[in-house]
Amino acid sequence: MRRYRFISFVSLGLACGFAMPATAAAQPLAGDAGAARYDGQVGAHIDARTPEDLERLESIGAALVSCELSPAGGDFILPPGTIAGAEALGFTITIVEPDVQGALDRESARIRASLDLYRQRGEGEGSFFDDYRPLPEVDAFIDELIARRPDLVSRFEIGQSHEGRPIWGMRISAAQDGCKPAFILNGLTHAREWLTVMNVLYLAEQLVDGYGVDPQVTDLVDRVEWLIIPVLNPDGYEYTWTTERFWRKNRREPPPSAPTRWGVDPNRNYSFRWGLAGSSGNPASQTYRGPAPFSEPETRALRDFVFATPQIRAHNDVHSYGHDILFPWSQLTEPSPDHDEYQALGDAMADLMVETHDVGRWSVGPLSTTLYRVSGGSTDWFYVEGGAMSLTYELRGGSFNPEASEILPGCRDTYEATLLHAAHVADRSSFRADMDNDCDFDFDDVLAFLVAFGAGEDAADFDADADHDIDDVLAFLAAFGEMS
Ligand SMILES: [Zn+2]
Repeated sequence: MRRYRFISFVSLGLACGFAMPATAAAQPLAGDAGAARYDGQVGAHIDARTPEDLERLESIGAALVSCELSPAGGDFILPPGTIAGAEALGFTITIVEPDVQGALDRESARIRASLDLYRQRGEGEGSFFDDYRPLPEVDAFIDELIARRPDLVSRFEIGQSHEGRPIWGMRISAAQDGCKPAFILNGLTHAREWLTVMNVLYLAEQLVDGYGVDPQVTDLVDRVEWLIIPVLNPDGYEYTWTTERFWRKNRREPPPSAPTRWGVDPNRNYSFRWGLAGSSGNPASQTYRGPAPFSEPETRALRDFVFATPQIRAHNDVHSYGHDILFPWSQLTEPSPDHDEYQALGDAMADLMVETHDVGRWSVGPLSTTLYRVSGGSTDWFYVEGGAMSLTYELRGGSFNPEASEILPGCRDTYEATLLHAAHVADRSSFRADMDNDCDFDFDDVLAFLVAFGAGEDAADFDADADHDIDDVLAFLAAFGEMS
């Protein structure tokens, strides 16, 4: 079951009265002046299940915060005086946050204090992962990783958002471009899911710092080209920091008369099974699919980058929250052709999370039957069009922003599991047929395979059954044929 809380209440125990540096003034937080306010409003779970339920609640001013109603109901923000109205309509209301504005103000003060310390930090003080970080710090952290290992890390831009912000990625690889299977991960499709940014940046830091130190990381940075996009929806992210803390979608420009919640859900805007059940045609909906597939610059940029990067074999679209490992199909409710492989990998990943981090068991399954149907979602598109074994995480937490003390655990939860996903894809990728690692598929590779096969080396166990027989030769030739 999901616990639900809007905001965390952890205190860092910091003294107030610190001076804000000039750069911070340009980065207000959602509890500040100019931001949407929730005075007197409460956060509540309501047992609303149908579109009609939602309509009745919205007619008295309740705002849905969940992206969809589930069989258990949904999470709402209620203006003053509407609780009685909702009860009169026959709903059961469980208050989970009696003072939404107060919680926002406390969170804002906490993050500001942490940010101030982080910006002024001396050697060995203040970690990036102590609290959530706004765009300028995310950008600077990418530079910091590049500065640590310029031989391994580089920056790329996939395109720009509606409001002209660059969408940055980091390439982490010890191999020449295009020679190894690539694993693309993106955070922050949905603006308010701040933990996802931290989660993928933690992975990036582990890969950078672990190379040459940790044998598993070294192997996977040698064998996999990691492409990490921390913030796919930079306009939405900025908006959650400055104006509306619970914003989910991108910032498509509304027409003058538009409802205030105008925007496109990027994860309903991909072209595969777009416009079907599991998305909305209403621009005010949290799951508005946009006017056409890939109508949005953010998803279009990712699509074009994927088409220009044919070595992509794995993908993860990191979301929060829910403790789930999800895979295709997300729109169809029948099993995908690769269901068994997905399920086995997902189960092994969930096992590893329990073993390594002692977290409760995560749900593993197709998105459509584990959560709800998603039309025009990323996972199906990456699977069908992007040639990737594509997963979606729903990270830990009982809210979109678990408390600061949950950030590092929320990054570590998935770390080993993500490495397993990478190893799985690398182990079965046809790129293995480049036996001499020269980024070329030629006769030397055939010779190298035969030598390894004769010597009974692991590299020649192409079907991974721990023996060396004709099946390995056939598997090698199939991979070689695909690549050459
Ligand atoms: Zn999401």
